[in-house]
Amino acid sequence: MSTVEVSDRDFALTVPVLVIGAGAAGLVAALSAHEAGAEVLVLERDSLPRGSTALSAGLVPAAGTRWQREAGIVDAPAGFAADIMAKAHDEPDPALVATVTGAVGPALEWLGEAHGLPFSVVDNFRYPGHSAYRMHGLPSRSGEELIDRLRQAAEAAGIDMICDAHVTTLVAAPDGRVRGVVAGRPDGTAEEIGCETLILACNGYGGNRALVARHIPELADALYFGHPGNQGDALLWGEALGAAVRDLSGHQGHGSVAHPAGILLTWATVMEGGFQVNASGERFSNEATGYSEQAARVLEQQDGVAWTIFDARIADIAGQFEDYRNAVAAGAVVEGDTVAALAEAAHLPPDALERTAAAVDAAKRGERADTFGRDFAGVAPLAAPFRAVRVTGALFHTQGGLAVDGDAHVTRADGTLLPNLYAAGGAACGVSGRSAAGYLSGNGLLTAVALGRLAGLAAARQARA
Ligand SMILES: Cc1cc2nc3c(=O)[nH]c(=O)nc-3n(C[C@H](O)[C@H](O)[C@H](O)COP(=O)(O)OP(=O)(O)OC[C@H]3O[C@@H](n4cnc5c(N)ncnc54)[C@H](O)[C@@H]3O)c2cc1C
Repeated sequence: MSTVEVSDRDFALTVPVLVIGAGAAGLVAALSAHEAGAEVLVLERDSLPRGSTALSAGLVPAAGTRWQREAGIVDAPAGFAADIMAKAHDEPDPALVATVTGAVGPALEWLGEAHGLPFSVVDNFRYPGHSAYRMHGLPSRSGEELIDRLRQAAEAAGIDMICDAHVTTLVAAPDGRVRGVVAGRPDGTAEEIGCETLILACNGYGGNRALVARHIPELADALYFGHPGNQGDALLWGEALGAAVRDLSGHQGHGSVAHPAGILLTWATVMEGGFQVNASGERFSNEATGYSEQAARVLEQQDGVAWTIFDARIADIAGQFEDYRNAVAAGAVVEGDTVAALAEAAHLPPDALERTAAAVDAAKRGERADTFGRDFAGVAPLAAPFRAVRVTGALFHTQGGLAVDGDAHVTRADGTLLPNLYAAGGAACGVSGRSAAGYLSGNGLLTAVALGRLAGLAAARQARA
């Protein structure tokens, strides 16, 4: 239970910069504050830092980086900002969009130069909505590598971190200045630590069913695919302190999680020419608008499930992803030499699935317009043998949160600053607007890295002043 205790009490130990949460946002903030000369302490509820960062592909979008220049890619923060605003229908705060798109590239270059993180730009797959190749990842392209390397960098820098420290209470003076925190330990004891500045880096509220039901009712019963420890503590503390909150309905969903296996089925299965049907063997949407908004559409179908229908050619493409291979091993991918046989194997009505597949083929051949307006131009018809995977819609992470200024300093509704509170990553309001459709690939780690960097530098400056 996260609470705010209003009190002027003092603490036996006070640190200049205290960070709650050791995901990408918290570790980047800690490294930045340390570099700026402040003593930092990180509190993390798990015994090993992982967070949603470890569950991600670890791909961070940035424009105008040295890795892009080396690959001959022409890109700039302004173009990146325009892509974000277009995807989110101009809903995000343009000042925040300009801030994070300007900050993320230098932050990645600093992580590379100062801490040896060997980023490279993904230049063989253009993520939907990005006008340039700008996803940057580590060699394994995994979030596990990102979180491990950030943790190792923090350890190498000598940054203090207490794991198994679940912060439950913020202690704040009547004017909103945070004086310290109380953290529960596994043995039932409590750690009380004072702070001059506090950075909330404990992500959003995806793991809190009640908050999801309140703010994102269409995903109230959805599988949550992010880190379960992200319970919305930053949001609850911030609200109690009078922080402004924004876009709480914003989120990233995914309409293609194999069910019940619980394994992500790559969206390439759809983008390469597959389609989704419900239990009646009928399509229900233009799947190509985006995987994020597709989560709610799948959940609207009978039993909240759909089947993604594709073929062996697409299965080959999907096979480069470990998740797909795991789905095959788990028996989640069924096969059929004909559409009717596939329908039998997937327990779908064969006649209806044959009709649906024929209609999609006709749209691909340009013989008719697609019922749902999907542009199938240039997409090959599916060819035997066919594949089907039963999928459901999932919530990946929330995108709304505490409003911050250009230093990741948390603001009140009237625009004034809470005296010493900062927020980064999923704890802060992101740049995805108010709906699932506003999420541009990479928006999650964008604000983790960019706001983490800005929060760490600003908190260190304030603590030193
Ligand atoms: C399956 C999946 C794939 C994704 N892929 C991508 C991608 O490729 N690119 C991208 O940009 N984004 C992606 N995302 C989103 C991305 O993972 C997040 O936006 C990002 O990791 C958020 O970083 P963070 O540091 O804010 O949170 P986290 O990494 O979740 O870290 C928060 C930390 O705070 C800790 N914590 C929480 N509450 C407390 C408390 N009270 N006391 C102490 N500690 C606490 C948690 O244990 C956790 O370690 C993906 C998400 C998922 C789920």
